[in-house]
Amino acid sequence: MRIADVLRTKGSAVATIDPGATVTELLRKLAEHNVGAIVVVGGSGVAGIVSERDIVRRLNERGADLLSAPVSEIMTADVFTCSPSDTVDSLTVVMTERRFRHVPVISGDELVGIVSIGDVVKSRISQLETDSDQLQAYITS
Ligand code: AMP
Repeated sequence: MRIADVLRTKGSAVATIDPGATVTELLRKLAEHNVGAIVVVGGSGVAGIVSERDIVRRLNERGADLLSAPVSEIMTADVFTCSPSDTVDSLTVVMTERRFRHVPVISGDELVGIVSIGDVVKSRISQLETDSDQLQAYITS
């Protein structure tokens, strides 16, 4: 199973935000879209990623002043991305080892989707069910 197959099911919508937007605006977007991470997009494409975890950590360090700070101050600028042709299996390994739950999907220079750990787990369960059904059909035929 490839990332392109996951995107075919879930679609290509990605919640994005400008690096200069405030953390308050970021909170609004996270709630509105009901997601755990937002991709930060600047003039020249993906500039970072910011997740609920970044907000919680920085809120603990800086207190309520954080709410008026720009997203660029709390985002992770070194974003790991994948391509639609990558396999779900290879992405599972990276997400588990590097401990992040969101990976933006880039095709050429374009942001074409985002895959979460939930999408990856769902896809692997569905693949395992298909394999199991096929094995049972083979054994009983
Ligand atoms: P998450 O597990 O997605 O909530 O993110 C945990 C931490 O990893 C946060 O500091 C995120 O900013 C960072 N992070 C999340 N996704 C990525 C990614 N694709 N590339 C690099 N860092 C990431």
